[in-house]
Amino acid sequence: MTTAIYSHPDCLRHEMGEWHPECPARLQAIADQLINAHIDGLLDHRVAPLADLAAIARNHTPNAIAIAQSQPHEGDDYYPIDGDTSLNRHSYTAALRAAGAAVAATDAVIDGAIDNAFCAVRPPGHHARPSVPMGFCLFNNVAVAARHALDARGLRRVAIIDFDVHHGNGTEEAFRDDPRVLMASFFQHPLYPYTEPLPVTPNRINVPVPAGTRGDVVRQLVQDQWLPALHAFKPEMIFISAGFDAHREDDLAGMGLVEADYAWMTEQIMDIARRHARGRIVSCLEGGYNLSALGRSVVAHVKALAEI
Ligand SMILES: [Zn+2]
Repeated sequence: MTTAIYSHPDCLRHEMGEWHPECPARLQAIADQLINAHIDGLLDHRVAPLADLAAIARNHTPNAIAIAQSQPHEGDDYYPIDGDTSLNRHSYTAALRAAGAAVAATDAVIDGAIDNAFCAVRPPGHHARPSVPMGFCLFNNVAVAARHALDARGLRRVAIIDFDVHHGNGTEEAFRDDPRVLMASFFQHPLYPYTEPLPVTPNRINVPVPAGTRGDVVRQLVQDQWLPALHAFKPEMIFISAGFDAHREDDLAGMGLVEADYAWMTEQIMDIARRHARGRIVSCLEGGYNLSALGRSVVAHVKALAEI
């Protein structure tokens, strides 16, 4: 297996203040743990390019792009764009790198240059709505990549799996009426962004779970609800919104997953991808705010992707 890691130093330059949990140290913690686990050298390290605006515009309106661009060009000030999210002078470039990583990884996987990829990027994406950034997210990296796979590369069906603890409201909104996309997730409810869960349909298996939910319950949910829908849908490629904030050590939420649960979920997704999608998987970092738990969970996820 050739598993690539996409990242870029620009993703460390975007920051929203010392107190903010979505911080550059998250990417450093991931890099450190990949080295500690002795798997860093086994991965294909790739530089995230800047996304083309045409790729961004497949999922986002001019208003969303204008807000992401509305930062100052100099100085160290922060410009809030919602209650949880602000821009500094590096944010727009970082957002283009994050989306660009997802698009480049999609091309490399479809072209057969690599088997699968993990994008260690920030800002994250799954709260970003088509018309407006939101909740630490500027552009919806996974949604931009999925639209690239469908509209630029001609794939007919893709699945988006979101195991972040928060509801991927931006992704759900982007694809709620698109039969080419199956979205499967669980999310703690009620919790930010406090969107009301939409009914489960064959194309939308987004399952709310209460605080305190542990790995055994999540695994059963995956077995009973995600996997049958994925087998029936037969995706040609799978995207993962890989948030690790459902970990029991993460203080931004109250679920009880551990590293082994992330490894197990990744193995299930690998099995679906092998059977239906020629193994094609692109995974993008979303949340995960306890630095140690985040790094250890990414190691578990990437080891499963790389079959190490
Ligand atoms: Zn999250």
